[in-house]
Amino acid sequence: MAGNLTFDALKAAVADGTIDTVLVCAVDMQGRLMGKRFHARNFIDHSFEETHCCNYLLATDLEMYTVEGYAATSWAGGYGDYVMKPDLSTLRPVPWLDGTAMVLCDLLDHHHEAVPHSPRALLKGQIARLEALGLEAKMATELEFFLFEKSFDDIRRSGFRDLQPISAYNEDYHILQTTKEEEVMRPIRNHLYAAGIPVENSKGEAEAGQEELNIRYADPLACADHHTIAKHATKEIAWQHGRAVTFMPKWHHARVGSSAHVHQSLWKTDGTSAFFDADAPHGMSQLMRHYMAGLIRYAPDYTWFLAPYVNSYKRFQKGTFAPTKTAWSIDNRTAGFRLCGEGTRGVRVECRIGGSDLNPYLALAAQLAAGIRGIEEKLELEAPVTGDLYQSRRLKEVPRTLRAATETLRKSKMLREAFGDAVIDHYVRAAEWEQEEFDRVVTDYELARGFERA
Ligand code: ADP
Repeated sequence: MAGNLTFDALKAAVADGTIDTVLVCAVDMQGRLMGKRFHARNFIDHSFEETHCCNYLLATDLEMYTVEGYAATSWAGGYGDYVMKPDLSTLRPVPWLDGTAMVLCDLLDHHHEAVPHSPRALLKGQIARLEALGLEAKMATELEFFLFEKSFDDIRRSGFRDLQPISAYNEDYHILQTTKEEEVMRPIRNHLYAAGIPVENSKGEAEAGQEELNIRYADPLACADHHTIAKHATKEIAWQHGRAVTFMPKWHHARVGSSAHVHQSLWKTDGTSAFFDADAPHGMSQLMRHYMAGLIRYAPDYTWFLAPYVNSYKRFQKGTFAPTKTAWSIDNRTAGFRLCGEGTRGVRVECRIGGSDLNPYLALAAQLAAGIRGIEEKLELEAPVTGDLYQSRRLKEVPRTLRAATETLRKSKMLREAFGDAVIDHYVRAAEWEQEEFDRVVTDYELARGFERA
């Protein structure tokens, strides 16, 4: 069985006993799959219409803590329910689990209206704005992560000490080293492909134990769905093989970080590229120039959606391919924005700022909002930059700390107009909480540095 499942095909698979479990999942603020495991019979007879979850799923932190300060939900509000409405177009087999299928849900309120701060709803909103302009986007996210020798449980029991990546050396493009990782990577590629996720390839990345997974570009909602399921599958398949993976952007200060680059292009409804103009410099249409100018101008506004935790900002170090400069270049990996597919129908822009911990729905929605604003304002694109941009003092940077990115998010008129004040206030609260918790906790670093010597 390969690819997405129709509802009828699911019914047939349940009837012949191939499928007995359906994972009914929503996406939380952190970009994780949350939901229930249904008996497949119950799903096809009843729950395919809807099921429910506690509305705190869009108001907790990574540890499921009930964070105070959200207008949308609280202890005072009684933490009620959301409707989980299965989007049957996302029904697919889960080949790495026995007898299992999966469906993604939209989150609705008691009136069956989309919950405005739900990640899928936010992305759908920006796709609708593009449609109104007669445009469609195609996007791709690259998933980078580290693979470790030991299992999640062993690593947790050892207090996250002595972490050994699966290889001993930088394995960028290495076939030999990645052969040794095929035990985990081959099932990831093959199971995802069989689940209807168009995997292009995996490759070794520029650090010991670092892998990258590339998925073929798709419309933004499919791209974010693919990213979310692929990340989830990577963790589960690593777990099945007694290994751990991490999507933390910076698991060690002496190691390279992990990113999630976002490739993007716009297309007309007749299927031709809205970014390509054969007669223009580099093949970049005027529309593409406005879109890119919007991406660059508003990068500080949406940085939090690319880097949502304290740790995210530790990835932004010189000489590590983690750019922070709000400038564009032609095929230069030190710029925040890189022109790819120059002079061809596949011309596109790659945003290199985001870390591997981004929530793809939020990151894509925020970047589309910035690009659309660039088109609406007919922003002029500056000339591309050249050379090592890490050395440039002239160029503007994105916020370099969670605190700074929270403030640019809070003050973003562009995002408030695109997403609504309530949504921005909600995510500002999520951002504040991450900082508040970090500020409260004493870290290993402080202890080792100060215990004796302070
Ligand atoms: P590189 O070798 O420079 O990393 P790839 O050809 O591997 O580039 O493409 C990187 C990502 O860009 C892939 O996920 C691919 O599907 C995606 N991509 C290719 N063309 C487009 C396009 N026109 N719009 C958006 N994404 C695209």
